[in-house]
Amino acid sequence: MTRREVLKEMVAAFMQDCNEILDAVGQAEDGRVIDGVEFDVRTMSHRRYAMVLERAVGLRSRSWERKSAPLCSCGERMRMVRRMPKTVVCVVGELRFKRRHYYCDACQTSRWPFDEEMGIAGGWTAGAVRLMTRAGAKVSFEEARTDLKAFADIRVCRETIRCVTEGVAHALAAEQAAGRLLGEASSAWFEKTDRAYVSMDGTSVNTRDGWREMKLGALYDQSKAKQHYAATLEPAATFGLTLRRHAMNVRFGRAHEKIAGGDGAEWIWNQMRVNFPRVDHEFLDFYHLSENVHAAAWQIYGEGSRAGRRWARTQLHLAKHEGGRRLLLALERSRRHRKKRCARDALDKLLGYVGKHAGRMAYPELLEQGIDMGTGPQESACKNVIGRRLKGSGMRWTTDNVEAMARLRALMYSTGSWEAFWAARHPLRRTG
Ligand SMILES: [Zn+2]
Repeated sequence: MTRREVLKEMVAAFMQDCNEILDAVGQAEDGRVIDGVEFDVRTMSHRRYAMVLERAVGLRSRSWERKSAPLCSCGERMRMVRRMPKTVVCVVGELRFKRRHYYCDACQTSRWPFDEEMGIAGGWTAGAVRLMTRAGAKVSFEEARTDLKAFADIRVCRETIRCVTEGVAHALAAEQAAGRLLGEASSAWFEKTDRAYVSMDGTSVNTRDGWREMKLGALYDQSKAKQHYAATLEPAATFGLTLRRHAMNVRFGRAHEKIAGGDGAEWIWNQMRVNFPRVDHEFLDFYHLSENVHAAAWQIYGEGSRAGRRWARTQLHLAKHEGGRRLLLALERSRRHRKKRCARDALDKLLGYVGKHAGRMAYPELLEQGIDMGTGPQESACKNVIGRRLKGSGMRWTTDNVEAMARLRALMYSTGSWEAFWAARHPLRRTG
């Protein structure tokens, strides 16, 4: 087919589409004009432009008629075996074209140079891989299948989505393990004018090797317009280093004010000390303090009791407006007057907790300067980045897959990183 013939064919096909739409709208019943045709119009436009793309690819493949056989990487000239048809799924549907299969007799290597030229390394184009990965990373692979069909008219099976999504996730994990933070070089970097937060937390996921702690770190600004996440099952030290690398990538250090937040877990503050030693403030998430105070209150006054609630409210009010040291003194005083063993135990436990973190309870200053007292983005990230996809009921991942998927989802929820990741990614390097 020549270019002129292609154009002629397309103009005829386009006119036919137009006639169908004109007729359909003309004959549609009142009140159902648009919804009677809109999906058909979408299908038509995809099919028609997929055809244009297919013809264009066909025209380009003809240049191979004039090319001599390529050289193999071993240095020998390859031999043309045959022309083989190929079908790939792209974002507007299926494309079919023929391309040459070359073979090297010396080292027994096969090559399809036209596929390389097109940037296709499997049954899917880079765009289709990107959509499948996004869908598969967001919801279960079965839901992703129905979503892709409904939203994008892309028809692929559940197993394909699983292979592609996990393939990309593992490729990302390998890149990150090699120290390349693909996609983290997004445009959402921290600026001098930002107040930047770093926080860490752990959440357990069910794997085939039992429950494991997924560590998640968040870097965000005051407005929460920039949010970056890093997740891994690796030990705390490895995680801390990973989060520091992410922080360097998003220019965390440039922010004029840096604040670290977390709950009472010891590993968190160890990793903060090692990897973020120059923060301006450290704070204990107020919600976690509240949980601990309430736990003591229930033990002293009875689960859910009004007296317990009142006591907890008083302690928290004190912490919020007068700080951790005052809370510590008040709790010590309270401890002296207790007669009951269980009350003293509860207070001893709370005293240990508050004593360890009193320096991180400068809540009055935080309040005054408009600094967060809670690690909200961290909490919601544990639910959104990890929980929603990786902790579904009955979900049990292999540790390898859950690690890779967590990294993929951390990337997806990081501002600007998803786009940057795909822009930086050469389609032929992919394993999906
Ligand atoms: Zn060879």
